[in-house]
Amino acid sequence: MSDVKVKYTKMSRSRGRNALDEIWKVLVKNNHLLNGKPCCAVCGGQNMVQAHHVIGRSIYAYRWEPVNGVPLCALHHDACVWQSAHHAPWWWLQWLKENKSVTYEWLYQHCWDRPTKTADDFVYDEIYSQMEELHKQQTGVYFKADRCIDYRLSKAYDQILVMLSGDSSIKQIMAATGAGDTALKKFIGKNPELRRLLKARTTKGKK
Ligand SMILES: [Zn+2]
Repeated sequence: MSDVKVKYTKMSRSRGRNALDEIWKVLVKNNHLLNGKPCCAVCGGQNMVQAHHVIGRSIYAYRWEPVNGVPLCALHHDACVWQSAHHAPWWWLQWLKENKSVTYEWLYQHCWDRPTKTADDFVYDEIYSQMEELHKQQTGVYFKADRCIDYRLSKAYDQILVMLSGDSSIKQIMAATGAGDTALKKFIGKNPELRRLLKARTTKGKK
């Protein structure tokens, strides 16, 4: 990465936390689809499917780990006293062991940790961006691409610099970075060196 301090609009803590919570649920639910719609991992029910945190969400270190989530219907999440993740831990652990071995193993690797990360210890844009990539792997599209496009552009700063200095068209830069025209131009506008390059091309009559 170049030494230039790249400017982009950073996600605030509260906005970042909400955005991560939202996409985490989607990623977890995407792991169990029935006819294209989320379903309960236990019974296959599609009524009120919720994403359950295996290690509680108040532990920030694992709050946004996709492996830490299982989609469950309201009954198997917390309504049933004999068969729900929240009310019947003996049943839940047995079920997890038999049906979700990856999550079960992960749980036992981490449940004795005492991670001290707090809400302030995260680069929200970075995690959000990784989760967007996972969403794209799952579904072929980004969840809300515009939410972290500015951040992704900041990561691609050097590439944009090289492309703008060379013969690449704005369309080619858009294709290379996945950014729309407006987002790309906004980002360029915020960064003096890129702005200068763009201006130089415009005066030369390049588009
Ligand atoms: Zn269920």
